[in-house]
Amino acid sequence: MSATESETKGKKGTLHLVATPIGNLKDITLRALEILKSVDLIVAEDTRRSRVLLEHYGIETPFGPSLYEGVEPQRVERVLNLLKEGKDVALISDAGTPLIQDPGFLLVRRAVEEGVRVVPVPGPTALVAALVASGFPTDRFVFEGVPPKKPGKRRAFFESLKDEERTVVLYESPHRILKTLETLAEVMPRREICVARELTKIHEEFLRGTAEEVLRRLQERPRVKGEFVLVIRGKKT
Ligand code: SAM
Repeated sequence: MSATESETKGKKGTLHLVATPIGNLKDITLRALEILKSVDLIVAEDTRRSRVLLEHYGIETPFGPSLYEGVEPQRVERVLNLLKEGKDVALISDAGTPLIQDPGFLLVRRAVEEGVRVVPVPGPTALVAALVASGFPTDRFVFEGVPPKKPGKRRAFFESLKDEERTVVLYESPHRILKTLETLAEVMPRREICVARELTKIHEEFLRGTAEEVLRRLQERPRVKGEFVLVIRGKKT
């Protein structure tokens, strides 16, 4: 270790990025539990939601300032100061891996800039769980976040992905999954897709077929509920 590195390690705390379950409470690593118990503070996205997990595992570590969407720019410096004072911090989000469609990027960016040690503690993330079970190629894939909400933008978004040869992974909410599938059916009518719903939970399921076939199956239901990952097979060459 260089002099600068050991100095940094001695004075400042460590920022741990800890993945938590995406549904099934058993999907947490032994290392994650150890770290959540031993750090000085847990910075959560929503303390009410994280409390369920922490209580389940008997973790009594205090919460630091929460880091939900919108407040990150204002709160980051507070967390950074705690790290600079030597406090060890674990960042968790409501579900899965922090920073993956969740807050944390600004904090990590600033921690890196300030020479604070950043340690990932890997675990579940919905995009990887859906991808590996989709049956589509996993050697090359692209995560495109959440499709745009406005119809015109959504259409343009799928048009831009029409010639993508890699497997495409997207997140979608239960309120918009039908609209998204409608657009997808128009833009890529023959493309194979896989919709993963409620991953790791009791009602986990995978709906496979064209966008129109999956749409029809969902439309037959009285209500569309749950969390969704949409996986689109890449264009075949
Ligand atoms: N950080 C999380 C991760 O690592 O996957 C993602 C958080 S993002 C705010 C929430 C979105 O992730 C949901 O709207 C859904 O698209 C997807 N998601 C999370 N958990 C899921 C699950 N159990 N089954 C299916 N999709 C899930």
